[in-house]
Amino acid sequence: MSDFDVIIVGGGHAGTEAAAAAARFGAKTALVTYRADKIGEMSCNPAIGGLGKGHLVREIDALDGIMARVADQAGIQYRLLNRSKGPAVQGPRSQADRKLYREAMQAEIEATENLTVVEDGVDDLIVQQGRVAGVVCETGRELRAGAVVITTGTFLRGLIHRGEERIPAGRVGEAPSTELSKRLDALNLPLGRLKTGTPARLNGKTIAWDQLEMQQADDEPVPFSFLTSKIDIPQIACGITWTNSNTHAIIADNLKKSAVYSGAIAGRGPRYCPSIEDKVFKFAERDRHQIFLEPEGLDDDTVYPNGISSSLPSDVQDAFIRTIPGLENVEIWQPGYAIEYDYVDPRSLKRTLEVKALSGLFLAGQINGTTGYEEAAAQGLIAGTNAALIASGSDDVFIHDRGTAYIGVMLDDLTTRGVTEPYRMFTSRAEYRLHLRADNADQRLTTIGRDVGLVKSDRWNEFSSKIGRLDEIREMLTSSTMTPNEARTFGIDMKLDGRRRTAYDMLTYPSVTLDQLSQKWPEIRSFATSDLVQIEIEARYASYLDRQASDIAQLKKDEKRAIPSDIDYAKVGSLSNEIREKLQTARPETIAQAQRIEGMTPSAILAVLAHIRKRGESVTETMASGT
Ligand code: FAD
Repeated sequence: MSDFDVIIVGGGHAGTEAAAAAARFGAKTALVTYRADKIGEMSCNPAIGGLGKGHLVREIDALDGIMARVADQAGIQYRLLNRSKGPAVQGPRSQADRKLYREAMQAEIEATENLTVVEDGVDDLIVQQGRVAGVVCETGRELRAGAVVITTGTFLRGLIHRGEERIPAGRVGEAPSTELSKRLDALNLPLGRLKTGTPARLNGKTIAWDQLEMQQADDEPVPFSFLTSKIDIPQIACGITWTNSNTHAIIADNLKKSAVYSGAIAGRGPRYCPSIEDKVFKFAERDRHQIFLEPEGLDDDTVYPNGISSSLPSDVQDAFIRTIPGLENVEIWQPGYAIEYDYVDPRSLKRTLEVKALSGLFLAGQINGTTGYEEAAAQGLIAGTNAALIASGSDDVFIHDRGTAYIGVMLDDLTTRGVTEPYRMFTSRAEYRLHLRADNADQRLTTIGRDVGLVKSDRWNEFSSKIGRLDEIREMLTSSTMTPNEARTFGIDMKLDGRRRTAYDMLTYPSVTLDQLSQKWPEIRSFATSDLVQIEIEARYASYLDRQASDIAQLKKDEKRAIPSDIDYAKVGSLSNEIREKLQTARPETIAQAQRIEGMTPSAILAVLAHIRKRGESVTETMASGT
């Protein structure tokens, strides 16, 4: 008899979302983590969202996850990024008050039904009859469950580097997880090393704010959660400053002392989030680099200098930071550092995030080679739900494809391509950006979430009423027509072809506004502005979206073509050795996954399809409906 249905190991961003999802699904869930008071801790930058990342937060929210609601209780500088560009690439972002975020997350976890927090470290896995059956904690306690999700972040054999200093740690001040890493190694999971870094933390009282350009929050904060109507938390400004030639000279003179440049670190770091050493070395032609000085909380003087992460020795960090305008007399409360840690090659996972080689074991978050709170949380939601499904004895799987969600893009990228550096979400990773917008995440996903049992009644009722209101607006706009001549009397420039157009059709033209249309149809003004904005976006994108919808339909057809798990690529004719090897390593579950393996050719795909047919197996559908 199991103690729990699902055990989640780790209370970071993946772990909390996984635990909440499994519990919401109805599974008796344990969240085992080193320290309950660290649940929801932001290890690095105090901010949630951004381009691509903000889309993930909205998708998590649409599936009734917790990150967006928690972030809305902690957001102290909301900014809708790319506001001047189209809605498809706009990304909600907010700086977070670190303490408020942690507190809100802990309150959320505590209030979750079916969820027990166990304060302990997990050292080992219990494996019985070829499947995972529980965990062994460092206190010797054994906990049994039908499925286990590991979300240990940067803790697996974590090693902090600062100059010549080496400190075994999961993050600053916390011990690493070594035994569990050994256990994963013993299970023959493909482990690698990656690294990331963080900047120094500054005493805000010693910064000359009056000399700096300040960046204000948006006048009207756009919340993360579809359930949040208003942000009441006071909004703060950030300071902006720049490095200069003096800063660069100190860094260049000491480059060899940087843990990264001394050769001490083997793991690759995130290219798009380089350390200041990297920036000075790789972009030597640039005479300055921007730094955002972000306060870490409303009642906290700590400031996070975004843009100068470093693994240089403390005295060198001290020296170069003081060359920066506004920071001449700054006090450094904690020097920056780099951290190297084990990750598991995510190509060893199914798209459900279950380990292919060990049934019932799931991995989510930084352990899979990603970086970022949002990427971790989104994986947590998927792994937690699938763990709960497996533990309940269901054969269903909960996944998304590239046409449905950024979450689907990430799952597919990770499990088919693997990672060569910490993986971060960007809007450019998605083929169907016009459809996968942050503003319509609920319309894309909430019904799917409800069907699988993830979306609770309060959200469902709210969503259903919104859909009803949007339908009403669409109905009104599609049943109201005007001739081009009449349109001109309202200042709407339409081709004089005598054709009556619906108000909705007219709205598809970028030059036509709802304000103009409401001169003819004043009832438009009776609808809520937020609903009208939604319909306007939809209308503007309508023709592109139709085209994308047919592309997505074709993609879905392809994605459902299964490749038998026991396929022997050595027996598939006409494959080059290189492609054969890639298929052997990635072991894609579907033809669509195979198509996206780097370097894959159409003729190789045809060869795989021909081989499957020759084996006499029909090309079947693998995915559960509604996912
Ligand atoms: P974490 O949030 O790290 O949570 C892991 C949890 O697992 C912790 O609660 C830990 O106590 C627990 N745990 C670990 N081992 C065990 C065990 N054996 N038993 C029980 N509990 C265990 N992201 C960015 O987007 N940008 C950045 O610039 C950036 N820089 C970073 C710099 C540093 C120094 C660090 C440490 C992280 C940085 N990150 C950055 C990454 C970001 O913090 C992570 O991506 C995110 O926190 C990952 O979430 P997670 O849930 O996978 O892991």
